[in-house]
Amino acid sequence: MTRTVAFVGLGRMGGPMAANLARAGHRVLGYDVVPEAVAAAAASGAEPAGSAAEAAAEADVVITMLPAGRHVLDLYRERGLLASARPGTLFVDCSTIDVADARAAHEAARAAGHRALDAPVSGGVMGAEAGTLTFMAGGGAEEFARAEPLLSAMGRKVVHCGPAGSGQAAKICNNMILGISMIGVSEAFVLAESLGLDHQALYDVASTASGQCWALTVNCPVPGPVPGSPANRGYRPGFAAPLMAKDLNLAANALRAGGVDAQLGLKAAELYAVFAEGDGAGLDFSAIVRTIRASGAAPKETTTDGTRP
Ligand code: NAD
Repeated sequence: MTRTVAFVGLGRMGGPMAANLARAGHRVLGYDVVPEAVAAAAASGAEPAGSAAEAAAEADVVITMLPAGRHVLDLYRERGLLASARPGTLFVDCSTIDVADARAAHEAARAAGHRALDAPVSGGVMGAEAGTLTFMAGGGAEEFARAEPLLSAMGRKVVHCGPAGSGQAAKICNNMILGISMIGVSEAFVLAESLGLDHQALYDVASTASGQCWALTVNCPVPGPVPGSPANRGYRPGFAAPLMAKDLNLAANALRAGGVDAQLGLKAAELYAVFAEGDGAGLDFSAIVRTIRASGAAPKETTTDGTRP
C-alpha cells in the first residue's frame, strides 16, 4: 500500500533511505535543517517540506533519522512534531539513540495519541544506498506490522526484537560485540607482527578457526587478506570511528545503569572515545590497529614459559 511518509533528517543515512522509499512508490515529504540535504532529497524523488511539523501534519508515518536522542525528543516534544500529526500517526525513529531516550520517545508519542516504533539500523551508508540495511525494531506487534513494508523498502532484513526500546537494545549489544571484537582482532594482528607471524598466515588460520568473526573476515584491520576492507584504502570509512565511539558510549551508559559487570565493553568504550577524538577522527574504526601498534612498548626479554628472566 502506498503511504505518505514524513522523513526528517536527510543526512548520510536518511538521504538515501528517503530516496529508496520514494523509489518504492511512497509519497515522501522530506525535511532537514540543512537546505542542501532537502534539495538532494528532492532530486531523488522526495517532496521538500518547509518544516518537520508541516511534513508530519500530512503523513501516515513519520520517520526520523537524527544524530542523537536529544534531537529526537526535542523534535517530538518541543518542535511540534507530535502535536501537528493526525491522531494515530505512526512515529518510527531509525536513529541510534539511548535506550532510555527511545522509551521516552515511545511514551511521548503514546501520550499524544500516536503509535511508535524504534527501528535503528545496521549496514552503514552503503547499506542505506543499496537498500540492504538491517532494521532492529522495538514496539508493539501492530506498530511493527504497519512499519514493516516501509522498512523492507529500505532494508534487506527487518527483525522485531520486542517491546519499546528493544531495537535500540539490540543495536548497542551488537555494536558492543563489534567494538570489542575489532580491538581483539587488532591486538592479535599486532601480536602476530611481534612474533614474526605473517598477516596472511594468521588470517588463513583464524578465519576458518575459532577466531572467526566479522571484524576479521569482512572488515579486516590490516591490508591484504580481505581486499574490500577499509585497511586497503587508507582506512577511509566504512564505519567511522566516531560512530563506533558513540554506540559504545550508549552501551556503556546502559551497562552502568543496569549494573552489568562488562569490563571489556567499558574498556572498549574508553579506547574508542580517545581514538575517535584523536588519530581516528576521520577514519574507519578498524584503524585502531595502528594506535595499538604505535602505543606498544619496546619488547621485553622473556623466558620460554613467558616469565621475565
Ligand atoms: P548525519 O549527521 O549525516 O545526518 C543527520 C541529519 O539530521 C543531518 O542532515 C542534520 O542536518 C539533520 N538534523 C539534525 N537536527 C535536525 C532537526 N532538528 N530537524 C531536521 N533535521 C535535523 O548522520 P547519519 O550518518 O545520517 O546518522 C544518522 C543516525 O544514524 C545516527 O543516529 C547514527 O548513529 C545512525 N547510524 C549511522 C550509520 C552510518 O554509517 N552513518 C550507521 C548506522 C546508524
